[in-house]
Amino acid sequence: MKKDTVVLYPAPGMGHIISMVELGKLVLRESPPNSITISILITTGPYETPAITSYITRISHNYHPSITFHRFPHLSVDTGDRSRSPAAIMFDIIGLNTLQHFSHYLHHIAQTDHHIRALIIDPFCFSALPIAAQRRIPTYYFYTSGASALAAFFYLPKIAEQMDKSFKDLTSTYLHFPGLPKLLASHLPEPVLDRNDPAYGDFIYLCSDLSKADGVIVNTFEDLEPIPVRAIADGCCVAEAPTPPVYYIGPIIADSIDKEVEKRHECLVWLDSQPNGSVLFLCFGSRGSFSEAQVREIAIGLERKEQRFLWVVRAPPRNTNLKHVSEYEDKNFDLNQVLPDGFVERTKGRGLVVEEWAPQVEVLNHKAVGGFVSHCGWNSTLEAVVAGVPMIAWPLYAEQHLNRAALVEDMKMAIGVEMEDDEFVSGSELEKRVRELMASEKGREMRERSFEMRERALKAWEEQGYDLSFIRKHMKIDCNTITIIRGKLNR
Ligand code: UDP
Repeated sequence: MKKDTVVLYPAPGMGHIISMVELGKLVLRESPPNSITISILITTGPYETPAITSYITRISHNYHPSITFHRFPHLSVDTGDRSRSPAAIMFDIIGLNTLQHFSHYLHHIAQTDHHIRALIIDPFCFSALPIAAQRRIPTYYFYTSGASALAAFFYLPKIAEQMDKSFKDLTSTYLHFPGLPKLLASHLPEPVLDRNDPAYGDFIYLCSDLSKADGVIVNTFEDLEPIPVRAIADGCCVAEAPTPPVYYIGPIIADSIDKEVEKRHECLVWLDSQPNGSVLFLCFGSRGSFSEAQVREIAIGLERKEQRFLWVVRAPPRNTNLKHVSEYEDKNFDLNQVLPDGFVERTKGRGLVVEEWAPQVEVLNHKAVGGFVSHCGWNSTLEAVVAGVPMIAWPLYAEQHLNRAALVEDMKMAIGVEMEDDEFVSGSELEKRVRELMASEKGREMRERSFEMRERALKAWEEQGYDLSFIRKHMKIDCNTITIIRGKLNR
């Protein structure tokens, strides 16, 4: 008899891969033992960073042989081509991979003793949809951000159609998406900002294609985003086609057993010596980074107030138009060159700067942490929600401005930083927001609200959440009993 397999095709990037792996683990956990295997397709080349390789190794080791990774052969695409934006290059690579390697992979699987029960793809991998349809494989999109951003993506083709300028040039125009707070046009994700960018067409296509799959799986829960969930259900978000089935299965967050645990990270040891709820954690996702001038300004903001902090600092982006390091950049840099002279000594005891990476989930769940300055990446957002930590929202790229608007205006779990026209944030602005979050009545209310939401997130995990009907439908799995490990979230 053929062995049932669910194939997952994430977009490149740590955040996308981690979420997809977590979804795979959920499918495994809800399936009868040994009934199914998970196969995850990995885009290689510059996108498979050392951090991704070591993460994949740990997962393979922990879940062998239930989760296997299939690396697509390296494609030679010129990542240094200045005429193409990073998003356009990513669309090129995914499109080529899908055409050349994904089709071949499906053909190969058909010759083996595996039967593909379902395919779950990232929206960026939309080119896989027609190929899977030819083979009649049920295919779902896994949308790794929340319902707010999904509602905007569903509606974006309609807004784009009405515009005769690039969104980047509409610097003071607000867009109105059903069920969402208003959003500045220039705060949409980068690939869609410039009509002349080849990524623009791909991105709009990605949005309209969402409704063509068998369903869209979303990593959120209804209590967190009730307004956009309702707007999507009412069908007012999808511009042309009927709204596809949408499954809210969150909050799925990364499991700490898959992180490197040989030795407790120095920052956790440092946190042990700090008073409860006193430390502000600053971390901007797996790629977020700032110019040297902005790093220095953050340092000034942190130094002025006697605030305790734990700050993850990354190399400034080489391409100064970006707010993140590219996968193919050399990340070595001298921390002392970007921080103000003597900053580390002057803040010793009350502040700790960590280079490049900290174990975020453990940090957020440490009792010393009382606030989080976040770039509003969706994984970071859910991790903070599940840890009950209120935020200062400082969006940098992708759909993060949409997440910020939802966090600040709907969920009321974050204070937004005010940015200057070029998106620079001054030290005094940061200082002001930190004071508001850590030492004001508004901050106290936000802390309470975050704590309430954490309770609801736990409830979604333990009781009514996890809309797993998509698994039941296509994988013939009885998932009446949802077994989630309760203890792992307890602080
Ligand atoms: N992360 C971490 N330590 C760091 C930076 C990031 O553990 O120093 C993890 C974080 O916990 C989250 C992921 O990397 O799971 C970042 O995903 P997110 O969606 O927030 O942002 P992205 O990196 O995709 O922009």
